Amino acid sequence: MDMYEISAIDAYINRAYKIIIILPLTGATTSAFVFTFFKLAGWWPLVPVIPLVIYDFINLFYLCFAIYLLKTSHDENGLIKPHRILMSKLYVGILVFAQWNYITYLIADREWWAYIFFFIALTIVFFDIKFTSIISFALIISTVISWFINGEYLFLSLNDPLFWPTFILRLFCIGLSTATLLFITYFGGKYLVEELEKHINYDTLTHLLNRRAMNLYINEAMDDAIKNHSTFCLLMIDIDDFKHVNDTYGHECGDEVLKYVAHTISTGVKKDDYVFRWGGEEILVLLKTDIEKSKAAAERIRNDIAKDPIIYKNNVSVFVTVTIGISLYSPSNSLEQMMEEADTKLYYGKQNGKNQVVI
Ligand code: GH3
Ligand code: MG
Ligand code: MG
Repeated sequence: MDMYEISAIDAYINRAYKIIIILPLTGATTSAFVFTFFKLAGWWPLVPVIPLVIYDFINLFYLCFAIYLLKTSHDENGLIKPHRILMSKLYVGILVFAQWNYITYLIADREWWAYIFFFIALTIVFFDIKFTSIISFALIISTVISWFINGEYLFLSLNDPLFWPTFILRLFCIGLSTATLLFITYFGGKYLVEELEKHINYDTLTHLLNRRAMNLYINEAMDDAIKNHSTFCLLMIDIDDFKHVNDTYGHECGDEVLKYVAHTISTGVKKDDYVFRWGGEEILVLLKTDIEKSKAAAERIRNDIAKDPIIYKNNVSVFVTVTIGISLYSPSNSLEQMMEEADTKLYYGKQNGKNQVVI
């Protein structure tokens, strides 16, 4: 399946999923690294070695598990499997909670709540307020409990040797949380807008640009032609006897033929030419070139389509042809007139044996 055939939300989740997995595991690995470094640097003499080693191993496990989730979460269509989203959610939830509590009792520093923002931000990516609320509530409860159990570390005085390392870490956590929130808001929003734009401008069956995009691009081409004295042509392409294909082989086969024709046309034109699905089985091509080159391109397209049959479900071969009408831009013609001209030429071709280009 192509990316355009999945919904905007699916596409968004596909991309956001990577962020969801990568960020908490980066957070976990970084904290393990920072703690170990602090211990080795002698800043945290009171932190016991064995729990710290266990902590590092747990984080190594988080890392392996996240990589496993990342590598095995896509189905054959490239979508994230639904149960994997659930599993990853639990992974993030358990990671946040366990990490939080472990750190609270391991380190003589009670300001790790700065991390809450970091993890809540991640859970927001799941679009699941209930999940976010449960995790946030659990974190707040365990923080309050930790105050009762280990409250003497809550406020360190300025001459305490732990004051500055704690202070720096605190700033680091707040900075990281803020950056993460901004990162997710920026990229999350950007991805969503990009995906939605794709879905607004493209036809889901053929992956060609749709009519909305067509008006946009053709008007742009007209402005360009006036400003730069350049020219362009429109090719109106209609599949010959398409009703017959549907009636003989079924609508599904008709769809396959349509996709094949759309693909052949798209790959047969230059990068800065545009291909639109104009109607049911009518395709419009905008070629930014003169009539001679457009005619050559149209002939090439017609030939490419007629040349080989479409093999449907490995056993039916369907031969299709197209008829193409071409109109050339002229400053005295409106878009409607250009379309009408291309349509008239197309009609002429249909009346005179089909499978041909009419200029
Ligand atoms: P002609 O050579 O004159 O073009 O004959 P035709 O049978 O192709 O006639 P026409 O262009 O009027 O036929 C349009 C047909 O295309 C009608 C409709 O059933 C079919 N069609 C339109 N959109 C789709 C689609 O998305 N999928 C399928 N399978 N068929 C479609
Ligand atoms: Mg038609
Ligand atoms: Mg037709």
